[in-house]
Amino acid sequence: MNWYKQLHVWIILGLVFGLGYGILSAAMGWGEFTQAWISPFGDIFLNALFMIAVPLVLGSIITGVASLSDTRKLARIGGKTILIYVSTTVAALIIGLLLVNIIRPGDTVPEEVRLELQAGYSDMAEERQESAASAQERGPLQAFVDMVPRNIAAAASNNRNMLQVVLISILFGIALLLIPKEKAKPMLGFFDSLTAVVIKIVEIIMWIAPLGVFALLADTVSLISGDNLNELWSLLGALGFYMLVVLAGLVIHVIVTYGSILKFLTPMSLKKFIMGIAPAQLVAFSTSSSGATLPVTMDRAENHLGVSEEVSSFVLPLGATINMDGTALYQAVAAVFIAQTLGIALGFMDQLEIILLALLASIGTAAVPSAGIIMLIIILQSVGVPAAGIALILGVDRILDMCRTVCNITGDATVATLVASSEGQLEK
Ligand code: ASP
Repeated sequence: MNWYKQLHVWIILGLVFGLGYGILSAAMGWGEFTQAWISPFGDIFLNALFMIAVPLVLGSIITGVASLSDTRKLARIGGKTILIYVSTTVAALIIGLLLVNIIRPGDTVPEEVRLELQAGYSDMAEERQESAASAQERGPLQAFVDMVPRNIAAAASNNRNMLQVVLISILFGIALLLIPKEKAKPMLGFFDSLTAVVIKIVEIIMWIAPLGVFALLADTVSLISGDNLNELWSLLGALGFYMLVVLAGLVIHVIVTYGSILKFLTPMSLKKFIMGIAPAQLVAFSTSSSGATLPVTMDRAENHLGVSEEVSSFVLPLGATINMDGTALYQAVAAVFIAQTLGIALGFMDQLEIILLALLASIGTAAVPSAGIIMLIIILQSVGVPAAGIALILGVDRILDMCRTVCNITGDATVATLVASSEGQLEK
């Protein structure tokens, strides 16, 4: 196929030009113009993706579950999926903790930089702490209580409640399996058709992806640097080591963990996987949201990786909400980095606690931008590190959010490929 006919080429161009424009805009002080005339295109793209996330999850999980001939098959695929999701997240956490303990990026932050960052970002840090406090005040089982909505419409009205929508959809699908076939048929037909319509809408939305990605990147760069490129450079300089550790961890996890899963446990060629999933990765990078990227991830998995609809429609929406390896890795590295910078020693037991907490936190993290940092606060408090310490890393959080989201959706696609292949449902 000619290069200009390939979507990902256009998305990459959008990304590169967006980055270039963002830097130019910051250097020239065009912030206001960019906010008024460029950023809205990014919002339109992001909104369009979010708009279809709930109907997509509803439609695809319900038809996915109901198409599994019986509940035993559901239990088998579901059990397998969750087990692999948890194992890959633990692998990510171990990689992150090993790197941050060996490289110790927190030891290289000079005292004056630490004080400056803490002062500069204290307001923002307080805001995040308030959100985290309300999440934490509610006891250990609250996460499970939160999974069950009181009202279906209310659950479907907020993209942060995706886990509730997943639960409703699974229940709905199971009920459809259990009622007589002729009663189930109209509902199944409806949701089947809903899914097909939504997937078509994804294809339409993807036409504006290059423009959307351009605008999102331009907006992010201009917001981070706030019309002052020098500030951005000095921030990158001060936190460069920390960022490198997070990025190295993500890269190692993607190449080693996912690469070996694909290479040794599935017949998928790495080249085909990369070509197939690249557009979704680019959308994840520019939107910083696995939820917004979900429609694209599903489209790519089904139509380009050859994952069956039955597997992708169950494994991917579930993964987008509970499987966040990149987020878990980042939370572990960030927690230890903040402790190192503040001169607090974290022992082996503390780090073990971080593994457990980050595993749970990544499951509970909403698939939207910056959600990971709120959960990080809860981890910090549990291991006795002052939560105000997040002020140290807030300035570069968006950049890392973009990267961890790419890792999150790559993990979902890898597991979908593995599950499909183990079920004999991976098209060659
Ligand atoms: N933005 C991430 C995602 O949607 C979550 C996070 O780490 O903040 O996957």
